[in-house]
Amino acid sequence: MLVHTIAEVREQIKKWKKEGLTVGLVPTMGALHAGHKSLIDKSVEKCDRTVVSVFVNPIQFCPGEDLDKYPRTLDEDNKLCEDSGVDIVFAPSPKEMYGEGHILSNDFLTYVIPPYFYVDKLCGKSRVGHFDGVCTVVNKLFNIVQPDFAFFGQKDAQQLIIIRKMVKDLNIPVEIIPCPIVREDSGLALSSRNKYLSAEEKEYALALSKILFNIKACYDKGVTDVRALTETAYAYLNNRHQLEYLEFRDENNLEEKTTADDNTRVFIAVKIGTVRLIDNISLH
Ligand code: AMP
Repeated sequence: MLVHTIAEVREQIKKWKKEGLTVGLVPTMGALHAGHKSLIDKSVEKCDRTVVSVFVNPIQFCPGEDLDKYPRTLDEDNKLCEDSGVDIVFAPSPKEMYGEGHILSNDFLTYVIPPYFYVDKLCGKSRVGHFDGVCTVVNKLFNIVQPDFAFFGQKDAQQLIIIRKMVKDLNIPVEIIPCPIVREDSGLALSSRNKYLSAEEKEYALALSKILFNIKACYDKGVTDVRALTETAYAYLNNRHQLEYLEFRDENNLEEKTTADDNTRVFIAVKIGTVRLIDNISLH
């Protein structure tokens, strides 16, 4: 069932709660692919009812980012959800979520701001305010849908860590279920933004997963010095790659590592042409 208003979602949730049914939420920005589908399938399997939100959240885009050209494919998304056994596709307008005028001034919106330590690094460094927008919209979705479980991909590992922190700090009664990264056979992590890549750029994009897989292979052979592991990356990069970061951090709290261990996650962001891609791998 495709629903555009908060009131309609609330009405349905109320009925389900009365019947004692469990509810799963999969928050997305749409342009659904097999990565999203893996989260949806997990929710449908685990929960009595599943809600998928499809919302290109304007307040998590920074000035100059791709808000206007972000792919919007609601008909296809709705079909994928229907075929997957989703009960509600919640696709609100920005106005439904934030009211009039929010785009013009953030001064008229209450935000959920994650701790500075979690956002002053990795994607938060170049995307200032991004995680404020993410936490705010996810918190709103939690309040609207009141899910028992919410499903997030490890593709956005910093986001997942920040959301877990928010849920813990604000005592939000939801269990966060992390889901593994879905990749093409080539290794490329699926992303709605892969649509922006030309065939040639897609070849260059393979560097991200190659770098991560190679680092994991070196770690498995016993190399733990982060500087040595980082140096292995350069063989995969050329002047078509603008490396934004390659960092080794604690899986749970994002502290920097100088020696890799089983709690380490390796994070990479690379710009190819105008397309910014991220990926990561756990060394566990
Ligand atoms: P997005 O639509 O990009 O906001 O993503 C919605 C959810 O799908 C987030 O929890 C993402 O981490 C997750 N996701 C996106 N791509 C993948 C992928 N390749 N594998 C697993 N989860 C993914």
